[in-house]
Amino acid sequence: MKRISFLGLGLMGAAMARRLMDHGFELTVWNRNARRADALVEGGARLAATPADAARGAEAVIAMLADDAAAHAVWLGESGALAAMARGTLAIDSSTLTVGCMRELGAHAAARGVGFLDAPVTGSKPQAEQGALNFLVGGDTGAVERATPLFKAMGRGHIHVGPAGSGALLKLINNFMCGVQLASLGEAMAMAQRSGLDLRRTADVLASGSPGSPIVKMVVERMVSRDYTPNFLVPLMVKDLTYAMETFAAEGIELADARAARERFIEAAAAGYQDRDIAAVVEPLRRDR
Ligand code: NAP
Repeated sequence: MKRISFLGLGLMGAAMARRLMDHGFELTVWNRNARRADALVEGGARLAATPADAARGAEAVIAMLADDAAAHAVWLGESGALAAMARGTLAIDSSTLTVGCMRELGAHAAARGVGFLDAPVTGSKPQAEQGALNFLVGGDTGAVERATPLFKAMGRGHIHVGPAGSGALLKLINNFMCGVQLASLGEAMAMAQRSGLDLRRTADVLASGSPGSPIVKMVVERMVSRDYTPNFLVPLMVKDLTYAMETFAAEGIELADARAARERFIEAAAAGYQDRDIAAVVEPLRRDR
């Protein structure tokens, strides 16, 4: 596959599309706000007017969009991509969506003779820029094999989790745990700040001890420096925790931890951090805001 179209050029999508171009794929791009395509177009990508325009003639179409509503609009809406894709081509959605949405997209694709993979990613903006993402893939083996060169260009690996929807499910399980850890980290750092502990020393102890998971290690630094330059936006964590809660509830598990964590991210958004990084979850809890 050589001719690839990329839909959704946000923090993650723009970096992933850039990797494809750097690996020699012929790239067509589309974004709702076309200005976000400027740098890629300067680098040689073709700018499409609509998702359907992007999809025409592409051998594979990859989407990296905010949520289920965005994915519905871009794949299935008026001028949506799927209806313009040729039989035998491949559609890949790397956004963090519900399992139900991924399966629905897969069913629409199958009805048109188009392959479909749910392939959400772990890793954030720096990993997207460095080609170090990990793809969690659901779908059939043949499609996964066809997509492997694309995964290799954008990431350090991919895991074929299982049938359609299973990549999306594992991603929601993964992000449920990330969200809970970050909400508790925000509470811990706010406690340290309010009671006058040295924040640098607190961060070092938490990061080097038992609580120091990779995400805690990475985000605690941003909390200390109060650098909320976006890597992963606060409302997207609210969305991921909401989707996780709904998914687990369908299996009879009430995610009490996710519910509490989600409230913390909602508080951060309401406090003015809706366009900032998830590390800002600490801010509403600090005494010196
Ligand atoms: P982002 O920077 O907010 O980008 C979101 C993208 O979705 C933009 O291209 C935006 O277009 C588009 N979009 C939103 N609503 C739309 C709609 N109704 N119709 C058409 N396009 C729409 O988010 P991101 O960080 O790149 O994340 C993208 C996906 O990856 C999300 O599902 C997120 O949960 C997941 N993810 C993110 C990270 C991370 O660290 N950032 C890591 C793993 C997975 P406009 O530019 O026009 O607004």
